[in-house]
Order: sequence, then structure tokens, then C-alpha cells
Amino acid sequence: MRFLITAGGTREYIDPVRFISNASSGKMGYALARAALKAGHEVTLITAPAALKPPAGAQVVPVQTAAEMFQAVKEHFPKCDCLIMAAAVSDYTPARPARTKIKKQSGKLTLELKPTPDILKWAGRQCRVCNAHHEPKIIVGFALEDQDLRANAERKMREKHLDMVVANTPGAIGTDTSTLHIKTANADWMEISAAHKTASARRIIRMIERLTQ
Ligand code: C5P
Repeated sequence: MRFLITAGGTREYIDPVRFISNASSGKMGYALARAALKAGHEVTLITAPAALKPPAGAQVVPVQTAAEMFQAVKEHFPKCDCLIMAAAVSDYTPARPARTKIKKQSGKLTLELKPTPDILKWAGRQCRVCNAHHEPKIIVGFALEDQDLRANAERKMREKHLDMVVANTPGAIGTDTSTLHIKTANADWMEISAAHKTASARRIIRMIERLTQ
């Protein structure tokens, strides 16, 4: 299969040297890329900045912002059989980033933010068209939830037309191990408890392979 995997936390620039981001390490996305390669698949890894070695054998596309990630996904999506959006994409970006470094001033500084495009939602919509043309693609999303984990993740699964959702809690950010809750369209929730991300990634890739059989 040809996998398109996104990883890392996007950076949304306020000015040329400052940005809004999150604590995502990219470990899950990179582990998924390595697991897919090991299982003999082709991998394109679209990665926001991450302090990790790129997996040997993957086509690596570095990006910084949500807008750049969207462009890269749009470019590579037509050629993939499965998109896994493991990246922590910023939901908002500065509405008017400054062209030069913002100078310190007395008093408050207010930033106006605007929503970023929902890449996964776009892919889910595209897929309905792909399926109509008998070119099925599998769309996998992640959901980081600090309350009502399964209910919120299932809502995202429906709204974004996902084939699989992988839900976890903020404790998974930046760590080597995490507990994952996984749901596919026609099956019940399953839990992978306190497993290393390498092992969870192998299980997720195997589950995706099974969806195609
Ligand atoms: O809606 P929420 O941001 O919680 O959804 C998380 C999922 O959506 C993740 O798979 C993430 O990669 C993806 N996402 C996206 N584009 C955004 C925000 C999130 O593709 N702008």
C-alpha cells in the first residue's frame, strides 16, 4: 500500500521568529511511518518540525505551518491508498502575521487568530468522490481528548468521514508509551494499554491492512 502519514506539531508564525505550536513530538507519526515501511509499504511522511531521525526509505516532505501541510497533503493525497493524520495541526493561526519582528511595547498585545483548514475533513470529503470512482482510500484520524474521549472521538469520526479513529489523552504527548482507543467503522472500540508507540504503530498498520482485505 502507499501510505501518506503526517506527523509533528505545526508552527503558526506570529512574526518571522515567533510562533504558536503545541507539545507534539512527532513520535507516533514517525513510528507509524517506520511500521508501514517495515511491513513492506511505501511511505510519504509529511512532517512538521520534530527532533527525530527521518525513517530510512520514506519520502520525507518537511513543512512548518498548517497551510503548508494542507498544500503537501493535497499534492500527495491522489497517489495514496491510506492517509493517516497523526500530526497535531494547529486549529488557529495568526490572522495577520507581522512581516518584521514585533517590538516590545508597554501594555497588552492582542493577537487575532483565524481558523486553519481542517485537512482531515477535506480528505474525508475527497474520499467520498474517490469511492464513487472505485478508488477507495482509507482515512485515519487521531483525536486527543481530555473529556468524554470515546464519545468525542466518535463524533469526529462521523463528521470527518473517517474509516478509523485513534483516540488518546494529553498524557500521550511527547511520551514513548501511550494508551490508545481505536475504533473502525464496523467494529467496537478496542484499547491498546500502555504500549510503546512502536508496538502500537505495528498494530495500527496491521488493522489498516485488514480493512483492505
Ligand atoms: O478536530 P480535531 O483537531 O480534534 O481533530 C484531530 C484530527 O484532525 C487529527 O487527526 C489531526 O491531524 C486532524 N486535523 C487536521 N486539520 C486541522 C486540525 C486537525 O487535519 N486543522
